[in-house]
Amino acid sequence: RDSLDIEIRIMPYSEDQFLLVARDVTQVKRLDSMRREFVANVSHELKTPLTVLQGYLEMLEEPEQTPPAMLKKAVENMNAQSDRMGNLVDQLLVLSRMETPSDDVFDHEVNVPALLEQLQTEAHRLNEQKQHKLQFNIDPIHIYGKESLLRSAMQNLITNAIRYTPEGGEIEVSWKETSGGVEFSVTDNGKGIPAQHLPRLTERFYRIDEDRNSASGGTGLGLSIVKQAVEHHNAQLDISSTPGKGSRFAFQLPHGLIKS
Ligand code: ADP
Repeated sequence: RDSLDIEIRIMPYSEDQFLLVARDVTQVKRLDSMRREFVANVSHELKTPLTVLQGYLEMLEEPEQTPPAMLKKAVENMNAQSDRMGNLVDQLLVLSRMETPSDDVFDHEVNVPALLEQLQTEAHRLNEQKQHKLQFNIDPIHIYGKESLLRSAMQNLITNAIRYTPEGGEIEVSWKETSGGVEFSVTDNGKGIPAQHLPRLTERFYRIDEDRNSASGGTGLGLSIVKQAVEHHNAQLDISSTPGKGSRFAFQLPHGLIKS
């Protein structure tokens, strides 16, 4: 290790003797600083839309002085900002639920094709503006797993592909039997991700700079949720991407989880 944080205490031992107690608090301090960073990030992410909302509310205090076109725009923007806050709170709740390990992950049968049919309907709605060609290739495979976690993982990956692919792209969602088990994958032909970002992509609140301030509505929590949800199924999230060509996000569940 590079350095240690040591806490030293001097305690009385006998009349003329003391005890020197040294405790390694490196891990405790590291967790504490992660927690502080997390709270600071959440506060910042909530504060930004709130500031925008407050600005518009001030303007609406004198509606007679605001042109109707501007009023309409204000309401649209306020809606977008409150959606953004709502998304953030939803994702925080999902993350906090996942903190508590549950031992019933593999107790239930999940009808993945039915789940993906629902996600396909949602994807088409989200895709109305982007007009991507969406293709779903789904094998009729049910598995043992936790539906809420799989839904979060699959939904986030599909949403990201739609969001980060320029209009008129091609996105393929697939659920297929492979030699190693059954694989879920989302492939897009969008802008791709520069290699230096890949190792940090699943960190909470990590976003690529140019996407941070965009109106995409993202929070930077999506892929950290996907990673945890996939790991709860003892699987791994694989990301491969070529800038300018596109990205592929996938995870594979072993044969043992397939419901025969
Ligand atoms: P967000 O809420 O910002 O989408 P995520 O954790 O889901 O957060 O993703 C983190 C970042 O990874 C995004 O902000 C974006 O920069 C990048 N990213 C995710 N998916 C894709 C994709 N399919 N194509 C290009 N970039 C992506």
